[in-house]
Amino acid sequence: MSKPPIRNAAELISDRPTLSKLREAARGCRACDLWKRGTQTVFGEGARHAELMLVGEQPGNEEDLTGHPFVGPAGKLLDRALAEAGIDRAVVYVTNVVKHFKWEPRGKRRIHKKPNAGEIAACRPWLDTEIALVKPRAIVCLGATAAQALLGRQFKVTAHRGALIPSPLAPLVLATVHPSSILRAPDDEARHREMKQFTNDLRAVARALSSKSAS
Ligand code: SF4
Repeated sequence: MSKPPIRNAAELISDRPTLSKLREAARGCRACDLWKRGTQTVFGEGARHAELMLVGEQPGNEEDLTGHPFVGPAGKLLDRALAEAGIDRAVVYVTNVVKHFKWEPRGKRRIHKKPNAGEIAACRPWLDTEIALVKPRAIVCLGATAAQALLGRQFKVTAHRGALIPSPLAPLVLATVHPSSILRAPDDEARHREMKQFTNDLRAVARALSSKSAS
């Protein structure tokens, strides 16, 4: 008799997981159909006990091809904003709520497609276990998909961006925009304004982290 299909990534997670065991297990994940479209699983990366975890939506085209999170244009913009906010990338862990790239073809290009609730739920055990192992002091949700996955479906980034949200996930939790939205700004002026606001949100996290350390 053939094995029943795995519907939830939790079935692939060992009783005593480590980040490297987790990353290895996620390579073979088939808990939703996105593995069929993506080149590979793009797991989170960063310091084992990073004090700051950044959570995005899903890997993009370059992340899918290279297998690393936040290495494409949005990742480069994120690196710049972190540097401007005085946050050392070495103390950061970056990941996504969904670990495979969801896309649809447009000509020769692969265009990002938002993951649905079923895909987000199927993938959630990977993220929950990453949070449990890294135990970050601060989590920043990048964009609405990550914020609604972690803070509830009614959460609105536009209304609450940059504000600390009480959450059992970590001592400091906040949401801001996804860096890819800055790249989509209609003109240079809007892009500059959005980048400044994004950097200010990251600065607020850096300040909150240092005041928590001092207290
Ligand atoms: S998106 Fe997540 S749940 Fe779906 S196959 Fe990939 S790793 Fe598994």
